[in-house]
Amino acid sequence: MNAEIIAVGTELLLGQILNTNAQFLSVELSNLGIDVYFQTVVGDNQKRLEETLQTALKRADIVILTGGLGPTKDDLTKETIAQVLNLQLKLHQESLDKIKEFFAKMHRVMASNNEKQAFLPEGSIILPNNNGTAPGCIIEKDNNIVIMLPGPPKEMQPMFKEYVYPYLLKKSPYTIYSKVLRIFGIGESSLEEKLIDIFENQSNPTIAPYAKQGEVTLRITAKCESEEVAKGLIAPVEEQIRNRLGIMVYGIEEESLEEVTCKLLMEKNLTLATAESCTGGLLAEKITSTPGISKCFH
Ligand code: AMP
Ligand code: MG
Repeated sequence: MNAEIIAVGTELLLGQILNTNAQFLSVELSNLGIDVYFQTVVGDNQKRLEETLQTALKRADIVILTGGLGPTKDDLTKETIAQVLNLQLKLHQESLDKIKEFFAKMHRVMASNNEKQAFLPEGSIILPNNNGTAPGCIIEKDNNIVIMLPGPPKEMQPMFKEYVYPYLLKKSPYTIYSKVLRIFGIGESSLEEKLIDIFENQSNPTIAPYAKQGEVTLRITAKCESEEVAKGLIAPVEEQIRNRLGIMVYGIEEESLEEVTCKLLMEKNLTLATAESCTGGLLAEKITSTPGISKCFH
């Protein structure tokens, strides 16, 4: 299964906001084992959105749109989708009640154009918005799944996690699972030299090095039917890499070098003092960001 992401909003094209929705959705879809082949940004323009959607429907199984579900005239995502898919927009009473409730809770008067947000394509699966006013929806039409989500990340992300993720999980036959190894004390090219045979023989899991500021990470990724099976495929490759690199592998996933250092200091009951010139306390600042370190740091 493959997906295409369309972010709608002229403010994205003007560079006023960054398209973080595409990044969030791409990460989530990849975790579900769904390939993303295209990401598009289109402004609040009915004709161009229509063209973009037509193109996406031809080449993707799943089309996810974010943005343009607001109450104002320039928000036309829903209307355009309905038109392209030949569906009527129908009042969804439950959504309207929820929008009214949202305003009541905030002690604000609902503008009449907010009613527009409760009109949704007939026959769609409606996704409640627990953090704002615009509901989302999932439309299954012919061979496509079209998913419409609100633009603000604070509304879009929880809606995706709560409703869309479990929906797609049922549709996707496999999952992509990955583990990140964090490495310090070797450059990307020397690392590749050390692991060249492992790199060359990779297929599932795959291994990808990534040079970051002051360190290198290796992402080991397996694609299969379950997380359990994926972990089983990753474990022997991880062991092989750890055997080669030894203590250079200092951590996994999101762990930072200072976090791991502080953990070791506390475990071993060691103390540390720093005297800094030029960095003005930068090193001390990194170390003191770990909770509980004050007993080790002088
Ligand atoms: P809209 O649904 O188009 O009215 O979007 C409302 C707001 O959501 C925008 O003004 C942005 O603050 C935010 N937003 C919309 N699209 C994105 C996106 N792709 N990435 C991050 N924020 C977004
Ligand atoms: Mg907009």
